Amino acid sequence: MKLALGIESTAHSFGIGIVSFKGEILANEKEVFTTKHGGMIPSAVAEHHEKVKDKVLKQALKKAKITMQDISLISFSQGPGLSPCLIIGMNFAKQLAEKYNIPLIGINHCIAHLTIGDLMCKTKDPVYLYVSGVNTQIIAFAGGKFRIFGETLDLGLGNALDKFAREVGLGFPGGPKIEKLAKEGKYIELPYSVKGMDVSFSGIITKAIKLFKENKKLEDICFSIQETFFAMLAEVSERAIAHTDKNELLLIGGVAANKRLCKMLELMCKDRKASFKAVSLDYAGDQGAMIAWQGILEYNAGRKENLKIVDIKPYERTDDVMVNWKTI
Ligand code: AMP
Ligand code: MG
Repeated sequence: MKLALGIESTAHSFGIGIVSFKGEILANEKEVFTTKHGGMIPSAVAEHHEKVKDKVLKQALKKAKITMQDISLISFSQGPGLSPCLIIGMNFAKQLAEKYNIPLIGINHCIAHLTIGDLMCKTKDPVYLYVSGVNTQIIAFAGGKFRIFGETLDLGLGNALDKFAREVGLGFPGGPKIEKLAKEGKYIELPYSVKGMDVSFSGIITKAIKLFKENKKLEDICFSIQETFFAMLAEVSERAIAHTDKNELLLIGGVAANKRLCKMLELMCKDRKASFKAVSLDYAGDQGAMIAWQGILEYNAGRKENLKIVDIKPYERTDDVMVNWKTI
């Protein structure tokens, strides 16, 4: 069986996945940087990745019951992401590629989220709602590229939730804690911020922090943040489905873990007679299997990389990437 190894290190997670060229996941191990208070300091996260990288590799090989000699391709997250973290992943990938004489490919992290979603959910040509820590984008494949139809004008959805959580002392990651508190909350009015196909979160977070300082119930604020943010995303996703005439919505990225978000999108899709799918939690957040799978798609389509000159691309956008492995 031909196997690829993928290394993810764009932000909080250091992950290694091992995937067969047929798309079977043999291992998907990761270590995640967390804090009790405060957020992510890039240098501290990079230090974390450096410390855990050998352990994660060992775990992944053990899980897949293979050795490095069984690997035919190595891919790593080239960007977008935090430069100090990307460098740890790239250098590790280069060391392994050199040591074991294996071809190496740099991968766009966002695209890998899309294609692992398609692999897992068997979607062919959906509108993607991609909601992670840093990213919030409504994407669809059109004219040879994954085009961004709408996006956040400031923070990513996950980071917006994390920012509020940090400010009110909930620690990192904040999204799951907000979801839990929201279950006990009631609606308080917040601003609603959709501009064309784009959304913005930071003004709403500022208002929410103000409400917290005015001693409004934290559960109510959490509930209202979720209802507002998710309604905004349902609105633009619905418009993207209508514009592109596609009939599937696929939710990807770490915030896909949120049950309330899934419920709201499911209801919207039902009304439009579109199908709604969310990537399962193991593959929604950052992990190495998606990097390995995207490596396989690009390698099979003829992509080659020069180990000597390959570098990180901290600011590469989804629509910067020419798609040569897809034929819709
Ligand atoms: P990613 O960058 O794709 O790994 O996603 C990480 C982001 O997802 C972080 O900002 C988390 O706060 C957020 N997240 C994880 N679980 C949930 C949840 N249940 N509800 C909302 N956000 C979440
Ligand atoms: Mg991500």
